[in-house]
Amino acid sequence: MLGQVEAAGHALVDTPESADVIVVNTCAFIDAAKEESVDTILEMAQHKQGGAQKLVVTGCLAQRYADELAKDIPEIDHILGSSDFPALAGVLTSRAPAAGKAKSRSRALPVIQVAETPRYIYDHEAPRVRIGARHSAYVKVAEGCDRPCSFCIIPKLRGPQRSRGIDDIVAEVRGLAAGGALEINLIAQDLTRYGWDGGSSPETRATLAQLLRSLGRIDGVAWIRLHYTFPSAFDDDLIDAIASEPKVVKYIDVPLQHISDAMLKRMRRGHSSRVTRDLIERLRSRIDGVVLRTTFIVGHPGETAAEFDELCAFVAESKFDRAGAFTYSVEPGTVSALLPHRVDPEVAAERQQTLMELQRQISRERHEAMVGKEIDVLVEGVSSESEYLLEGRWYGQAPGIDGVTYLSDGQVPPGSLVRARVTQASDYDLAATLER
Ligand code: SF4
Repeated sequence: MLGQVEAAGHALVDTPESADVIVVNTCAFIDAAKEESVDTILEMAQHKQGGAQKLVVTGCLAQRYADELAKDIPEIDHILGSSDFPALAGVLTSRAPAAGKAKSRSRALPVIQVAETPRYIYDHEAPRVRIGARHSAYVKVAEGCDRPCSFCIIPKLRGPQRSRGIDDIVAEVRGLAAGGALEINLIAQDLTRYGWDGGSSPETRATLAQLLRSLGRIDGVAWIRLHYTFPSAFDDDLIDAIASEPKVVKYIDVPLQHISDAMLKRMRRGHSSRVTRDLIERLRSRIDGVVLRTTFIVGHPGETAAEFDELCAFVAESKFDRAGAFTYSVEPGTVSALLPHRVDPEVAAERQQTLMELQRQISRERHEAMVGKEIDVLVEGVSSESEYLLEGRWYGQAPGIDGVTYLSDGQVPPGSLVRARVTQASDYDLAATLER
């Protein structure tokens, strides 16, 4: 979006007070995200009293609730769906819809541009403005999802999966590396299904393993990281590529959601607990030093106390390096929203706390076992905790979602990859000193 706007000759500003046009990019994944999005729109709407001439709302909330937003928040001038933002530059220069344009209405309605089925995916020629650290970049390799998980609204928000071509992604990553990106975070709603929309046969379509091998040859890139890998789509070729490509970090983020077979069935995940257990065994036995991150949903309709106990036992025995637990959020339009046997939200919150406490102890043990070991740390810059510390991450810590490694000595610029020795461990963070 920023790229589109800047390429059209507009200047980007840092504060709503100095903006002529305010664009709010929204999320609608779960209730909390929807609330945050609406609060932000309302907050930004107040700037229409001041200098802002136009308020544009885009993203997933706009995709899902365009009519409601148009009706309930009259300050909004334009609404663009989750794949309609290429129209943004045009919207910025268009005149706000005039009162009376909508003949039978009493006030001007926002211009709604929301594709019924989102189809857009960017390519390497799309202008891009990067915000955040130069040394770490996100690259979306596919958009949309074709899976039927019963609790999830994403396929409706983002449309069917469409993958970018390998050459296109390689071209983008080359450009990012030339601009200083050492770490490339590959993202998609369903990363392991990258390329599947090009046909079912791995002989004729692009695969994630091929993509990793191609990206592994790009000079300047040090770490390639995989996010959101669906458990049942790991084939041997992919595991081999992760294990053997030196630049692919041995960190796998695999959302498992549950382990009980009955729950997996209710969640329509399309695989059994045996597949999950086999996968963990295969990943650990074939990828040296693999760090596993996962997430679980607790309190999904139908989850019994016994099924939750089964999940706790699985977490205790599996000893994931990182795990997050989320309480189920009812999403209208999903299959789960219609299921009987809702779990009391208080019970769900208790289950979340129980699981997170269990994982906290595991995380602590795993961190304590690292004390004395040498690690490579990608330095982010001066720590937010103290100006006397540097902050960075080893490959087992993904940006934005995991803890950090504090470096207690030395002065190195952000984006340096340094060797350090772990001196202290806490539940989610590490402390280390530079190796000289
Ligand atoms: S694979 Fe992920 S994005 Fe796709 S439906 Fe399932 S939970 Fe949603």
